[in-house]
Amino acid sequence: MMTLATTEVEKAALRRLSQLAVNGPLTGTTAWRCFSSPVARYRYDENQPPVVFNANELAALKSLKKLVVDHLEFKARRACAYCKRPVGHYGYGWHIEHVYPKASYPERTFALGNLTIGCTDCNQWKAARVDRGTLTGGLTIIDPVANGFRYGDHINLVHLATEEICFVKYRPTSETGRATYNKLQFADIERSTIIDSVNDDLAALHRRMNDALANVQASDSESELGALLCTLRSRIYRLG
Ligand SMILES: [Zn+2]
Repeated sequence: MMTLATTEVEKAALRRLSQLAVNGPLTGTTAWRCFSSPVARYRYDENQPPVVFNANELAALKSLKKLVVDHLEFKARRACAYCKRPVGHYGYGWHIEHVYPKASYPERTFALGNLTIGCTDCNQWKAARVDRGTLTGGLTIIDPVANGFRYGDHINLVHLATEEICFVKYRPTSETGRATYNKLQFADIERSTIIDSVNDDLAALHRRMNDALANVQASDSESELGALLCTLRSRIYRLG
């Protein structure tokens, strides 16, 4: 991310956060929270003194976040790096996605090459089913930011839409493609896409659940409530 920093204050604030993540007292997760929603006095632990930012640093972190978001949206063409569905204003809710999770790899928390775009669904399933195992087992799903990575080498995606119906099908063609399909629950995406396209009531409910999920994840990306919402939605579509 240092390459995106344009001012000395931005560079210094970023350097400071990186050091706090790697050397403590912050973790990758809490340092990222500091960056994402910067406040003057950040209490990461009620028994410890807060991490303090002055007005210049706060402004620098906010402007740098906007640069990072713009950069990732452009690079990922406003699509989730895993399921390829559109995100943003006319698409699904999304988060900045750490391919190697910040909780296990604090030194990669602010590495631009480790960042991409993940929709709320993929983000939630990856946090629950992939991230915790990466330290011992490595990344078991596709690595969309790896050098030379091509989505089509791992997953073939067919998307058909008419005025009446919308159909999406993922066909994994590699081992990591198959793991991505299973762990990130792509079967649910296939099912919900076709059901939503023919059932307006269910589509409206789905949109509301997506909004709720985006809000839950904004407050805590690994919350129990987020996992619960995802599972509930998954069950509804299996019944539908
Ligand atoms: Zn996705």
